[in-house]
Parts: sequence; C-alpha cells; structure tokens
Amino acid sequence: MKEFFEYTASLIKGLGVTLKYLCRPAVTLQYPKQRWTPPERYRGRVALRPKKCISCQMCARACPNNCLEVKFNVGDDKKRKLTEFVYHIDTCLFCGLCAEPCPTSAIFMNHDYELAVCDRKDLIVDLVKVDSYVE
Ligand code: SF4
Ligand code: SF4
Repeated sequence: MKEFFEYTASLIKGLGVTLKYLCRPAVTLQYPKQRWTPPERYRGRVALRPKKCISCQMCARACPNNCLEVKFNVGDDKKRKLTEFVYHIDTCLFCGLCAEPCPTSAIFMNHDYELAVCDRKDLIVDLVKVDSYVE
C-alpha cells in the first residue's frame, strides 16, 4: 500500500510539471507552420543563373568533392552553350568554394535548407532545369 501511494504521488508530481510547461508559450520554432529565416550569408544549396553561365567550368574545378558537371555544346560562333549543369547535392559540403571563382556570378549559394528527399537519386539535379526561372 505504501508503494502505491509513493507511485501515485510521483505520477502526480510528473504530471504537474507537464501541465506547468503546457500552459507556457513555446520557445521553439513551430516548424513547419513557422519557417526559419536564414541570415543573409547562409549557405543553402548551390543555385544557378543559367542565362549568365558561360560554361567555363571554373566552378567544377574549384569543387573539392566533384559535385558539379558542366555540359555544353560549342556553336558555329565557337561560343559554349550550356546544356546541362548537374549538381550532386548528396556529396555537397555546402562550402561555397564553387561560387568564388565564377566570373559572371552565375553560381551562388541560396537559402534553401529543406533538402530532404525519400530517394537518394533525387539529390542529383540539373540546375538548368531546376533554376530555369532564376535571373
Ligand atoms: S558548395 Fe562546395 S562541395 Fe558543394 S558544389 Fe560547391 S564547391 Fe562543391
Ligand atoms: S564558373 Fe560560373 S560561368 Fe563558369 S561554368 Fe561555373 S557557373 Fe558557369
């Protein structure tokens, strides 16, 4: 009988703590209803302004993990025309080293942080398609 009262008292004490915190305002961000606003220099995923890219491949050479593949055609005017810009998000370090040597500021780190996918294959993307709207 003594144990019963001890356990009950302990249970009531625990519930009291729960109720106390239940009535207080939440201190954590209520994701996904609330979204975090990253600071200006936050490095999310690599993004591309396809129209600005001159297919020089400086970004791909700068990447320490070979995450970028720049594919292009050479036209009659001897100019390179970007056809595909493959980005392997699954091996990206989010270091931003690829953006530094770009002569046209075509590549940059955006603020996307919701990068989870169900299939790893979805982490290999063509930025010419994904970022076609980016100016
Ligand atoms: S952020 Fe770093 S690891 Fe990712 S693509 Fe750019 S250079 Fe490579
Ligand atoms: S460095 Fe800039 S211009 Fe050159 S291929 Fe990469 S994104 Fe395009």
